[in-house]
Amino acid sequence: MGLLTGRSALITGASRGIGRAIAEAFAREGARLALVATAPERLLETSRRCQELYGTQEIEMIGLDVRDSKACDAAVKALADKMGGIDIVVNNAGVTKDNLLMRLSDDDYNAVMDTNMRGAFNVTRAASRPLMKSKNGRLINIASVVGISGNAGQSNYAASKGGLIAFTKSVAKELSGRGVTANVIAPGFIETDMTANLDPKVKEATLAAIKLGRFGKPEDIANAAVFLAADTGAYITAQVLVIDGGLTA
Ligand code: NAP
Repeated sequence: MGLLTGRSALITGASRGIGRAIAEAFAREGARLALVATAPERLLETSRRCQELYGTQEIEMIGLDVRDSKACDAAVKALADKMGGIDIVVNNAGVTKDNLLMRLSDDDYNAVMDTNMRGAFNVTRAASRPLMKSKNGRLINIASVVGISGNAGQSNYAASKGGLIAFTKSVAKELSGRGVTANVIAPGFIETDMTANLDPKVKEATLAAIKLGRFGKPEDIANAAVFLAADTGAYITAQVLVIDGGLTA
């Protein structure tokens, strides 16, 4: 029996990186999966890995732009009907469009806020009823340490992640009476597509500041997501779990 056997989990941004690692960790623990990316075919590899590694049979692959609130409402409703409910929601889909403040365009500001903040809002609002109906509903939002500390060249991204933290704490208060926990994971520097093309000098300086002496792996985040989603996280709500190898310590 896995830590998440019998539980159904909706994970956005599950086509690669941290979202894929969370999907695999949840599959390892026996969860039924609903995976979201911008197109269903982008989820084939994650789905194949969950099936081959852990024998997961129940996997829904959903193409959904989390910026589109009506599409989120429709997709989440259809999903809850099909899966007989939703117990766990992980808002992980996210983008960066980095630039210094004075060069930051409206489009780049909007793209980041619309995906990272509004997208999480859209999915959470759509899933709030199924989460409340679940016996132990769990909301896990993936923010970032820069949502706490800020970062030069990332004012749009930091604002979206800081907003996500405040949003999650508010949802935790609102849904606690129905047994739903809501928490944030704030990763530091994790090796994924998102960080692959950063300036080597920035990477070097970041690595030098990480006390544990290595960049994070998607699995470092996924294992914490399992901890929060399973019974192990039953008495934890409205918290921000920083996972950064000591980067911001
Ligand atoms: P990634 O490898 O770039 O993957 C991003 C994921 O988000 C993809 O699955 C992508 O789907 C999905 N996505 C983007 N826009 C979407 C939209 N409008 N609708 C639906 N899905 C969308 O990123 P990552 O590094 O794994 O990051 C995952 C999360 O962790 C993000 O929220 C990020 O901000 C956060 N984070 C990452 C780091 C890091 O160092 N990597 C640090 C702190 C926080 P497609 O494949 O369809 O594009």
